[in-house]
Amino acid sequence: MNQSYKKNLEFIKNAGVEYFLQDSPRNWFEKKKKDSKDQSTTVDGDKNQKIKNIIESIRSHSSPLKETAKNLVVYDGNLDAKIMFIGEAPGKDEDEQGLPFVGRAGQLLNKMLSAIKLKREDVYITNVVNWRPPENRTPTDAEILEYLPFLQQQIDVVNPEYLFLLGGVATKAILSTPLALGKLRGTWHEYHSLQLDKKILTIASYHPAFLLRSPNFKRASWEDLQMLQKKMEE
Ligand code: URA
Repeated sequence: MNQSYKKNLEFIKNAGVEYFLQDSPRNWFEKKKKDSKDQSTTVDGDKNQKIKNIIESIRSHSSPLKETAKNLVVYDGNLDAKIMFIGEAPGKDEDEQGLPFVGRAGQLLNKMLSAIKLKREDVYITNVVNWRPPENRTPTDAEILEYLPFLQQQIDVVNPEYLFLLGGVATKAILSTPLALGKLRGTWHEYHSLQLDKKILTIASYHPAFLLRSPNFKRASWEDLQMLQKKMEE
């Protein structure tokens, strides 16, 4: 093996990456070749098929989380959504139903959406991690990194204009920052998709489960939602 490749691989391994989700290296500098289907703004078979492929690759990806969970939970909503809401990981109800945000936190998310005149069918809802962690524990950093490529692939397929990150796990995954939500919320950030070659406007805000426990933060959450609504109406 070429020495510089070997050094690179060692560097990647020392950084904690243990396996790769594709066999060949990604050429970060190659612009995605656009065909007419990719530019389509309506859900065509192609977009559906791409999401189905991602779901199948998550399902076949071996992970200890898969052994303890009941059902795979990937997304709910609209593949053509302009806005994508990203949570942490499925809880008990989500694990039972195979859909994200269907329990108490999900009911609050529905209310948050309707407060800015959106329905679940208008948005794409997903999580960073797609299997329920045992006892609802927070996903570890290693699990977040493990599932991040699948989330990035979903973002690339849906191609939203905005991301709304629900809580610290989604924020850490997408904005790669250890900063607390209190410091990040209330302002726009950018997520750079290399595949789409575009920056997606992003808000980091509180998780509905946190808001259920700490209703004092609902006012800040409402401000963040209004920030999104205002931008969508511009
Ligand atoms: N909490 C999450 O982060 N995601 C869900 O789907 C449910 C609860």
